[in-house]
Amino acid sequence: MNIQHKPRKRFGQNFLIDQQVIGQIVAAINPSPEDNLIEIGPGMGAITEHLVKLCPSMTLVELDRDLIEFLAHKLASYPSVSIINSDALKTDFSQFYQGNKLRLVGNLPYNISTPLLFHLLETGEQIRDMHFMLQREVVDRLSASPGQKSYGRLSVMIQYHCRVMPLIPVPPTSFNPAPKVQSAVVRLTPYSEAPYKADNLKLLSQIVNLCFQQRRKTLKNCLNTLTQYLSQDTAVVDLTKRPEQLTVEEFVTLCNCINKNMGPSDE
Ligand code: SAH
Repeated sequence: MNIQHKPRKRFGQNFLIDQQVIGQIVAAINPSPEDNLIEIGPGMGAITEHLVKLCPSMTLVELDRDLIEFLAHKLASYPSVSIINSDALKTDFSQFYQGNKLRLVGNLPYNISTPLLFHLLETGEQIRDMHFMLQREVVDRLSASPGQKSYGRLSVMIQYHCRVMPLIPVPPTSFNPAPKVQSAVVRLTPYSEAPYKADNLKLLSQIVNLCFQQRRKTLKNCLNTLTQYLSQDTAVVDLTKRPEQLTVEEFVTLCNCINKNMGPSDE
């Protein structure tokens, strides 16, 4: 079958055409047959056709119905592949777990990458690792350290859950159609146990949001709505610092102090 598929902008379709980059991605993932490998947005199968040789029982989650038949035909000699026509943002990935941690991979549509990362982290404990192609700017934000320009909400919240390793820079010419931005492949490895444990994850997220809405103000100013909970023992974090200077560990310390002073949760 040689159907023509016109890349659809609304599905964020930028198909990989660079065999060298595809080879590097597959090598970075290094799949084995027993892996619980799941590709999000396989498209026309540019990466899939290599992955499936190493892990024939992989799962594909693709939103564009027109590509499902194409993929089924292309992968007909791999009867153990599961092809699922669904929206990754609405897919409950824990259904695939069954005792074997997930290995997720995808050249993701850039318009959904941030919400998708947060959605996936809900299943974080059941994920072994993730290899994603993202906008390079997003990879910079994921991996940024305190004091860097890209350091913000995304850095803190993702680094709370995962080890982040940028792997492969990818130019626009590696895709068809070429995106307007630079891309990069990143590896995210969720911690089986967070190195710094927040007692109230929702509160951590609220604090980080509040802080990075006004990243140039002092913590004391950013958190003025929580002042009543900033009792003396929050002195463990210097409130004259600005949010962009705070490490993940310090955000967690701040969160746990405020949480303690708030008393029992009213959730
Ligand atoms: N992996 C392929 C295609 C990348 S383009 C390659 O590298 O060539 C992004 C793919 O994600 C497209 O196939 C698009 O249809 C699919 N996609 C877009 N939104 C999606 C969603 N919400 N859930 C699952 N797949 C999605």
